[in-house]
Amino acid sequence: MPLSLHNTLTRRLEPFQPLAPPRVTLYTCGPTVWNYAHIGNFRTFLFEDLLRRYLELSGYDVFHVMNLTDVDDRTIKAAAAAGKRLEEHTAPFVAAFFADCDYLRIRKAHVYPRATQSVPAMVRLVQRLLDTGVAYRGEDGSVYFAITKFPNYGRLSQLDRREIKVGARVASDEYAKDDPRDFALWKKAEPIDEQVGAAWDAPFGRGRPGWHLECSAMSLDQIGQCCRVETLDIHAGGVDLIFPHHEDEIAQSEAATGKPFARYWLHGEFLNVGGTKMSKRFGNFLTARDLREQGVDAAAVRLLFWQTHYRQPLDFNDDALAGAQEAAKRLGEFHERVRFVGSGPTRARGRGTLAQLAQRLQADFRAALDDDLNAPRACGALFEFMRSANRELDREAAGSEDAQRAQAALAEVMSVLDVLPTPKQLDSGLVAWVEERIAARDKARKAKDFKEADRIRAELKARGVEIEDTPSGTKWRVV
Ligand code: AMP
Ligand code: ZN
Repeated sequence: MPLSLHNTLTRRLEPFQPLAPPRVTLYTCGPTVWNYAHIGNFRTFLFEDLLRRYLELSGYDVFHVMNLTDVDDRTIKAAAAAGKRLEEHTAPFVAAFFADCDYLRIRKAHVYPRATQSVPAMVRLVQRLLDTGVAYRGEDGSVYFAITKFPNYGRLSQLDRREIKVGARVASDEYAKDDPRDFALWKKAEPIDEQVGAAWDAPFGRGRPGWHLECSAMSLDQIGQCCRVETLDIHAGGVDLIFPHHEDEIAQSEAATGKPFARYWLHGEFLNVGGTKMSKRFGNFLTARDLREQGVDAAAVRLLFWQTHYRQPLDFNDDALAGAQEAAKRLGEFHERVRFVGSGPTRARGRGTLAQLAQRLQADFRAALDDDLNAPRACGALFEFMRSANRELDREAAGSEDAQRAQAALAEVMSVLDVLPTPKQLDSGLVAWVEERIAARDKARKAKDFKEADRIRAELKARGVEIEDTPSGTKWRVV
């Protein structure tokens, strides 16, 4: 079965077919760097990481663009409140965002265009929209998009066309779905914009881009440069972006190019706290750095999020996180166990059951993710595999070849889910001690003092170190 994805445009599961396989162009709306991103934001970025990684595992050559919104209503307000220039205010949050992505093991996008560095592309797009007549200059000096001139307006958000108020305008970056109006493409420079350095000259007046315009301009600019196309294969974000952000992105882009803007629209549901959306505004948020400071392993965060489908709301709480932490730990121990058996020379050929289980894991894992990225089902297959494989290993029925098959299957699963705990740095004192003890045991064995050799083995075991003798020497691991 091929990969199918839920497309918000049609509200249906559709088989995924990129425009020019194996290439896939993917645009994901990035963070607004007015402050630290919270783990609700990261639920969306992790869902996009899952998508990106699974596309790559499926053989696609993904070109991933994620923008950084470093100029909009919120960044300007925050910079002014801090008494700083825009760039000075956003720089630490940009750095923090990348550090948080590394902590959460999010695969890097290929480009991160920044709004403030893409203004020429934005000016060109506004000009193009003015030239085609769908944009107009309001008497307030800003440029607006006339939604009545774009018949498809409202298609993505399934807006009732009768609600549209002709000529009514909205200047703010965010507004409600029940109040669709002509939105600002380019906002006339206000004193606060000049104060923080967020104003640029343009043929249609000094000002700054609207948030929606930024994403249209940056995505079209990037895929134009890389692939000479004007249609994205996939555009993704959180559900709160469907209206007005993505609706407006479609209007601006399609009115300018005359081509479909994106073929598949994917939206991730919210991370909630006690049923309410996690949000800076409600104060019910946690940042990635909070979790890192609490010693939470990224594997636990990833696993927690994978255990709910991306189109289902997820309620965050400490117990669920602790449960995921425990489950990730068990996976780590299991992985070590498989690796240990896989590196052993003895019982080279087992009964083959473990290899069969590994094959089933691979098939179930792919079938689950092919079905609209059903990560909870993929996790189910992984844990089922762990249970039955552990049983096989308990019976000492698996050989190293079997274990190597299992290792390969686990590596494939982990290339997408990436939920093994971060390896602990072994204390160098312990390493030296283990090596000294192993050398002493070798000496005892050579002297045929097996009693002493066994005593040292027990001594190691008491400190959690397991050993196995192989032709290339004694291997050990901490259990
Ligand atoms: P922002 O930085 O506000 O532009 O948001 C960045 C991304 O986070 C967007 O894709 C939002 O849809 C998403 N987002 C915001 N709040 C949440 C939440 N509570 N749960 C999941 N995604 C969210
Ligand atoms: Zn966007």
